[in-house]
Amino acid sequence: MQQVYLHALFAIIFAAILYPFIGYYSIIVFLSGFVVDVDHYIYYAIRKKDFNLMNGYFYHVPGSKVHEPHSDSLYIFHTWEIWLLFFILAFLSHQLFLFILIGIGIIFHMIFDWGYLFFNKDAIGERAWSLIGWISRN
Ligand SMILES: [Zn+2]
Repeated sequence: MQQVYLHALFAIIFAAILYPFIGYYSIIVFLSGFVVDVDHYIYYAIRKKDFNLMNGYFYHVPGSKVHEPHSDSLYIFHTWEIWLLFFILAFLSHQLFLFILIGIGIIFHMIFDWGYLFFNKDAIGERAWSLIGWISRN
């Protein structure tokens, strides 16, 4: 979440590379590359009962005045069950879900998220990676 502008920057580069191969679906890849972080805002809004978008953003930025340490946070689009659901929907429903998955899960968004978590040791344990695991703990 902290690097949302980087998500957007690299998502547009990635989408431009894919454009000759997938056409306008590259717009889906671009959008899903950073819109997926809306789950951070949803988490904040539910947990803090505050719908202020900027507070929701800065809640996740260490050093900001609304930031609070949090652990085992459920960011729904960052769980493997949702990726699996999109993968299944891509075959059962529409390939649109596959392009969303390319944008958020397998390749793109998560590379940056994992990189951030790897280099920021204090972020370890900050989020849940499994919806089932999170439900069983809460
Ligand atoms: Zn993310």
